[in-house]
Amino acid sequence: MKHGYQWLKKQLKKLKKKGANIKTVGKSVLGRNIYAIEIGEGPVILIQYGIHAREYVTCDLAILHAKMLLQLNSCNIKYVLVPMANPDGTELALFGIKRSGCWRKWLKLNFKNFDFSLWKANVKGVDLNNNFDAEFRKHSSSSVPSCQGYCGPYPLSEPETRCLVRLCYLYKPCLTLSFHTKGEEIYFDFFQSHRNRIRDNKIANLFAQDFGYKIKFTQDISSGGFKDWCVSTLGIPSLTIELANDSLSHPIKSKYAKELYLKTKNLNLLCKKALIIAKTDNKSST
Ligand SMILES: [Zn+2]
Repeated sequence: MKHGYQWLKKQLKKLKKKGANIKTVGKSVLGRNIYAIEIGEGPVILIQYGIHAREYVTCDLAILHAKMLLQLNSCNIKYVLVPMANPDGTELALFGIKRSGCWRKWLKLNFKNFDFSLWKANVKGVDLNNNFDAEFRKHSSSSVPSCQGYCGPYPLSEPETRCLVRLCYLYKPCLTLSFHTKGEEIYFDFFQSHRNRIRDNKIANLFAQDFGYKIKFTQDISSGGFKDWCVSTLGIPSLTIELANDSLSHPIKSKYAKELYLKTKNLNLLCKKALIIAKTDNKSST
C-alpha cells in the first residue's frame, strides 16, 4: 500500500487510540482534510511535513515522530504536527491523475507528462512553499502554474498555506520546523534582526550538529517559504530541514522513512534545548 491520504487517515486513527489529539484544521483545494496531531502540554512547537508533494516520505516520518513523542512520559512541550500539508499534491505524486481527482488540464502543468512522481506543487500548480507573504515572488522560478516553482497569483492564495498561517495564529508556536527532502541541509535565515539571527543560528546549529548536517544561508536565493514567513512576520525561530542524502533520487520512497527517523530520533531533546535558547536569548535582550 502506498502511503497516501487514505493511509494517513488509518495512521491517525491508531494514534488517536494511543492518546494523540487529532484535529481537522483545514481543507485542501480538492476538499481533503488537513490534519494536526496534538501531543503534550506546554509551549507550542509546530512541525509540518509534506508541503512539497513528492517529499511524501516526510509524511511517514511525521507518524514515526508522533509515535515516539506519545511514548514520552512528559515532554513539557505541546507538539502540533501537520503530517501532510499538501494532501492533493501528495496523492498526485503517488497515484497520478486518475485516482487523484484531477483532470487532464494538470497534464499541461506537468509538461504533458503522465508521470507525476516528481510533482511538488498543489493541484493548482502553486508551489506552496513559495506562496507565503515573505518577499513574495522575488525568487519564483516560474511565472505560470507549474509542477514546481510557481508562487501563485498573490500571497496565501491557497487554502493549504492559509491553513498553516491560521494554525500559527491559533497556537502561537515558539518554534516551527519544516521537514523536506533532500540534501542534508538546514536553513534558518530570513532577514532577522541581529539579535534574532544570533538566537536562530544557535538553534539551527543545535540541530545541524546532532544530525550531522550543514547550515546553508538561503535568504538571498529563496523566499515565500513557511520558514521565511515565520521568521519575518512572527519573529520566531523557524528551521527548514532538508533530510536525506543527495545521492537518493526524488521521490524518496516511504521505505527510507525509518532511516530518516533514526537520524532525527533526538527531536524532543533538541526541541527542549531550542526552547531554552529561545527563552534565554529573549530574556537577555530585555
Ligand atoms: Zn521541499
